[in-house]
Order: sequence, then structure tokens, then C-alpha cells
Amino acid sequence: MMTMIIKFCFFAMALLSITPANAQTEVLFGYRGKNGPNQWGHLNPHFSQCAVGKLQSPIDIQRRDTFYNQKLESLHRNYHPTNATLVNHVCNVAMSFGKGAGDVVIDNKNYTLQHMHWHTPSEHHLHGVQYAAELHMVHKAEDGSFAVVATLFQIGTEEPFLSQMKEKLVKLKEERFKGNHAAQVEVGEINTRHIEHETRKYFRYVGSLTTPPCSENVTWTILGKVKSMSKEQIELLRSPLDISYQHNSRPCQPLNGRRVEMFHELPTE
Ligand SMILES: [Zn+2]
Repeated sequence: MMTMIIKFCFFAMALLSITPANAQTEVLFGYRGKNGPNQWGHLNPHFSQCAVGKLQSPIDIQRRDTFYNQKLESLHRNYHPTNATLVNHVCNVAMSFGKGAGDVVIDNKNYTLQHMHWHTPSEHHLHGVQYAAELHMVHKAEDGSFAVVATLFQIGTEEPFLSQMKEKLVKLKEERFKGNHAAQVEVGEINTRHIEHETRKYFRYVGSLTTPPCSENVTWTILGKVKSMSKEQIELLRSPLDISYQHNSRPCQPLNGRRVEMFHELPTE
């Protein structure tokens, strides 16, 4: 039974939208071996972008590909306290938000906060460096496109939000050991306001979802400030997941001529 689970990653279509009819579909994809990232494009006809797409994510953000864009503005996030649920998505640990969680505005387009999830180690690399973890805050517009705000973490002091979630994460882990691999733990109302604080530097580029179907309709914002979480917190984020998903980061993809734009409140030049 374990091997079944190891091979499957529950794919919440409500979050990543292929078609509503596919909701709850179990999709074969993993991070190594036969179902690993190099094979994703061949696992399902819906996943072809993973193999043939030219705007794929994640990427390594290299200085030589990065351009300061003075037209970019500070990130406008407007989050509200909302009910949240910790969810074991099998391929990652996520927190889904109820209605009215708030939004981010990019190029005059509104994207509503849907959920956030963590990858360990990080998916994006910054100047060639892969970090210990990456948080993705996933926002969706009415036309189905996404805006994902990513935060990179190095190992260090505790991350305050995860400290608050400690008991709930332990509960999610306990559920897995009871055999409930797709458990949900109610968190109640949480305040996401602390997450929207000032952003002095970020990188912006157009890319894809980093999990199948790898759809290329994502506006990425990678925050320039690398934050910290403790080693124990990284372990806690991994603990509800099966061993084959505890390393759940897709390798960096070719830039294929894309520009990575940079917002910086105090440009050095
Ligand atoms: Zn992600």
C-alpha cells in the first residue's frame, strides 16, 4: 500500500485547474526515477508542457539575465484574516484559505490568494544558490492565470508563522502515520497580514507551474530577501510527506531568452 502512495501525488485541480471534471484525479508524478521531472511530459497528455514548454519554471536567477526595471512597483498585497486549513497534498504540505483571503495586484490585474505550500529544498535558485526551502503563495485571476509570490529560506532562526503552526503540522504528521496520507487539519482564522509587509526587492518573470501540468500562465515574483527557518521547521514541513516527496523541488529550467526583471527600491546604479 505504501508503494501505491509513493507513486501518486494527489493533484488538487481546484488549485491548479485543468478541467473541473478532473477534480480529485490522482496523477502519477514524482521527483525521481520513472515518474521524475524528466518524465513528467510523458506521463499524461495534459502534461505535455512540462516537456515541450519554453517558459518553464523554476529558474536560476543569474545576475547576467536580470534587468532593473524602474517601471515595476512595490508589490501590492492586500490580505485579510481568513479561515485556513493545513492540507497534505501528498507532493507537498499546503495551507488553503477560505474566500476573501485577499489579493495581489500586478499590472492592474487582480489575483486572489488561494493557498500556499512549501518546497524543500528551494525550487528557484538565486545567483546559482539553492536554498533550504521555498514558500509559494498562489494567487489566481478570473481568467485562470496565476501569480505566485515565492520566498526563499535558509537555515537559521525560527520562522514565526511556522512556529505558530507547529502543533498543527505535528498533527498532520500523526495523521500520516495513522495512514491518512491526504489529511487536513483545521487551523481556524489566521492573520496573513504579517506576510504582506514591505517588499524592497523582488525578481519578476513569466513562467509556469512547477508541478504538472506545468501550465505557462504564471507571473512569478521571487522576493529578494532570503528569510530563515530552523532545521527543525524544515523537518516538520517534510514530516507529513512520504519519503519520495520530502525532496519536492523541480530542477531549474532553461531561460530560453526570457528577461528577469528586478524591482529594487534603492537601485545600486
Ligand atoms: Zn510550488
